[in-house]
Amino acid sequence: MIEFFKKLFRYFKRPEDPPTTKRENYLGLTEIEEDRLYKFMDSHKHCKCTSTIGGKFTYTITPTGLGNITHVRCNVCNEETDITDTDSW
Ligand SMILES: [Zn+2]
Repeated sequence: MIEFFKKLFRYFKRPEDPPTTKRENYLGLTEIEEDRLYKFMDSHKHCKCTSTIGGKFTYTITPTGLGNITHVRCNVCNEETDITDTDSW
């Protein structure tokens, strides 16, 4: 499942996009935020999603004047965590 998301993130990066200091993906996550996301997903791999179409995780992205506040929630056990990389602001 994590490999699927990694591929999905890469899919949205277009080759013609100018290089930036942040790795780009469709959620606009920084490398540190991605790592936190994958750790969170990994810690919830035992939460069994009953849906066959996915929907196990919900992302909440709140744009602010400084940067995006990003939360991820496991829809099985309802644990939510803040993966925001405020050091990148
Ligand atoms: Zn969970």
